[in-house]
Amino acid sequence: MSDTTSTLPQRRELRTALPGPKSQELAARRSAVVSAGVSSTLPVYVRRAGGGVIEDVDGNLLIDLGSGIAVTSVGNAAPRVVEGVTQQVADFTHTCFMISPYEEYVAVCEALAELTPGDHPKKSALFNSGAEAVENAVKVARYATGRNAVVAVDHAYHGRTNLTMALTAKAMPYKKGFGPFASDIYRVPTSYPFRDPEGMTGEQAAARAILAAEKQVGADQVAALIIEPVQGEGGFIVPAPGFLPALQKWCNDNGIVFICDEVQTGFARTGAWFASDHEGVVPDLVTTAKGIAGGLPLAAVTGRAELMDSVHGGGLGGTYGGNPVACAGALGAIETMRAEDLVGAAKRIEAVATERLRTIADKVPAIGDVRGRGAMLAVEFVKPGTTEPDAELTARVAKACHEQGVVILTCGTFGNIIRLLPPLVISEELLLEGLQVLEDVLLAATA
Ligand SMILES: *Cc1c(COP(=O)(O)O)cnc(C)c1O
Repeated sequence: MSDTTSTLPQRRELRTALPGPKSQELAARRSAVVSAGVSSTLPVYVRRAGGGVIEDVDGNLLIDLGSGIAVTSVGNAAPRVVEGVTQQVADFTHTCFMISPYEEYVAVCEALAELTPGDHPKKSALFNSGAEAVENAVKVARYATGRNAVVAVDHAYHGRTNLTMALTAKAMPYKKGFGPFASDIYRVPTSYPFRDPEGMTGEQAAARAILAAEKQVGADQVAALIIEPVQGEGGFIVPAPGFLPALQKWCNDNGIVFICDEVQTGFARTGAWFASDHEGVVPDLVTTAKGIAGGLPLAAVTGRAELMDSVHGGGLGGTYGGNPVACAGALGAIETMRAEDLVGAAKRIEAVATERLRTIADKVPAIGDVRGRGAMLAVEFVKPGTTEPDAELTARVAKACHEQGVVILTCGTFGNIIRLLPPLVISEELLLEGLQVLEDVLLAATA
């Protein structure tokens, strides 16, 4: 939480019911031409956004607790991002880094080498989306090890391309009907403290995962293990302490590339530059995207120089990967995170929001768990007194928040989790107002 120079008034204000008449007109145009396979959580059409507020085409001001899925951590249209992008777009928009390179790409890779976990020599390659970064991390791991198998965990989310669908755990909506999937993917249990046997330690959960991998495929066949250090779409699952270090050790001992998918957790979101930092794990490869560039499409694979250099020239790349405008956005976003101490801001959001959420949980027996790190927080809904997921209540609560002008997202394998991903620049006042709406809606929904 810090001052935002957004020119948008930082308050919630509803002038129409949501969605308003202009949004409804656009929805009618949309339904004629936009694929029904693409859906929207809250179909109000956006005119402007900044700080912690989204303004729609009917003049309503909504509180943003989603950041476009953890993307606009620096705020929408953040001044340094706008400035960098505006200058870059006027200078040149594209040459293709594989044809004639430019400084911005190199500068982003320098920042990645400095900020990602570990102080070993690191190199990066830039791409356009999180899924593309994951695909390329797997390519590098397979190339460097000469092995094929990849181990992923329960509740994992790694994207929607063919290989990343195979790595993703959840069938609906991500995989159903879209097979056949890429082969040589092995799924093992994760650490999910709320749902694991009472008292299971991180080391025990890791032993369970390792045993499953060794039985299914054998360590000597495994190119990579990929894991989100806090699992995102699968339910904002924070593993038990010791889980990630034990997995890392198994990888190191067996020549397996340890990949942390920090696409959602990276870039200050969890109150550290990267979520791996909380556990002191140093991944061999890190994938980043979402929060990296203030809303411009950019992604990266960063890792041990010898791994990243193992691939033959021309083996990695893509027409747009590391587009100069997106790189300028990233440099502006990273500068904003440093100048405004957004790592500290995420920690303050955690302190303020967790306290409020725990107070709400005391009043609402359907809240089974409150968890998360930094500004990546979640509430898991269950039938009171059990761990049985309550997706119906979750959907109803989210919808009621939307009607009240609070953009709030759900997630989880069982669809029973409300997640908070506010921009890190949101004011404390606005954050608390958003949480007040959540409390009011919840008390009404469970009365
Ligand atoms: C969103 C996400 C991806 C996929 O990123 P896209 O940019 O949507 O392709 C991959 N991994 C994680 C952990 C994510 O949260």
